[in-house]
Amino acid sequence: MTNQEIISFIKEHFQNQDKIALHQPHFGGKEKEYLNECIDSTYVSSVGPFVDRFEREITKFTGTAYAVAVVNGTAGLQVALQLIGVQNNDEVITQALSFIATSNSIHFAGATPIYVDVDYDTMGLSPKSLLSFLNENAELRNNQCFNKLTGKKIAACLPMHTFGFPCRIDEISEICKKWSIPLVEDAAEALGSEYKQQKIGSFGDLAVFSFNGNKIVTAGGGGVIVTNDENLAKRAKHITTTAKIPHPYEFVHDESGYNFRMPNINAALLCAQLEQLEGFLKNKRELASKYATFFNEKPIFRVEKDQSKVNYWLNCLEFENLSERDSFLVETNKEGIMTRPIWTLSFLLPMYKDCWRDSQENATKLYERIVNIPSSVQF
Ligand SMILES: *Cc1c(COP(=O)(O)O)cnc(C)c1O
Repeated sequence: MTNQEIISFIKEHFQNQDKIALHQPHFGGKEKEYLNECIDSTYVSSVGPFVDRFEREITKFTGTAYAVAVVNGTAGLQVALQLIGVQNNDEVITQALSFIATSNSIHFAGATPIYVDVDYDTMGLSPKSLLSFLNENAELRNNQCFNKLTGKKIAACLPMHTFGFPCRIDEISEICKKWSIPLVEDAAEALGSEYKQQKIGSFGDLAVFSFNGNKIVTAGGGGVIVTNDENLAKRAKHITTTAKIPHPYEFVHDESGYNFRMPNINAALLCAQLEQLEGFLKNKRELASKYATFFNEKPIFRVEKDQSKVNYWLNCLEFENLSERDSFLVETNKEGIMTRPIWTLSFLLPMYKDCWRDSQENATKLYERIVNIPSSVQF
């Protein structure tokens, strides 16, 4: 398949738009109606019926018991890590192949990332690499996991479901249980994805989704923490709403809380978006299957495997090497088709360059080979 053939195919699917985005939002439902309703009610801020309604809807969709809507995914991850017990000077195991927010949330929770490699096929945290890190470097003391190299507590594991492709979350969960490591899923990209017929976001102690403008559904900006633990959910709501004790008029707060709740006006937009989610998922699946048919050999179009169901948030093409990847990136972007490589691996960035990491063989190979191609819904 030549780059020119690919370019023509993409242009045709996206009806020859001048600029073809990687992932643009689609507002085809009751967005304006709900926004007007929200403005007319004057409840535009962090309390309101759309926030409650969105939280109910997202628990239903993900099969979790509780949801707490927050200002964005990064804030949600930071709070989730803190609620599960991450404190200053702790360590959190994660993947370097991720959007920077994953590592930043660990940093803002006061901890340091430890980078374990990803699996080549899933692009998510590798249970094998996780286990070999723990077997070599960790020990259990009083039922808590410590890093023998640094003496620090390994307070959480934060795997990510890359571009909506589920990682081997059940195996990761098993390992974490054996090593007494709490598990938080960075499910920012994976709303609607499933692993072994279970929705992503329901495997960890807590999980976080993002509703940034480029995600599968958007609140403009927003995120949500989901969990099956009532106590964690209560704490999440309290700590993200300035830790205010409910009272008709007095202002009393019992700890230093965040102002991290999602405003009702964003939730209004999101409620309208959620009503279209099944349609978006279907439309994205159709595009992925069209791509899969078109790319019958090289470059390889990545499709769901084994027991995973992918939401096809961002479609992935796999090239043979860095130079093929680069020429594709240059040619498509020159033609107004937005394509992009995987994020710069976190340990190559100045803030995280000193963090512990293993070989990162798969992450590096994936960085050199994978390109995201236009994935917006198209009706
Ligand atoms: C988008 C994203 C986030 C953060 O979400 P924001 O809402 O933009 O703060 C976190 N992790 C991953 C992997 C993401 O893609």
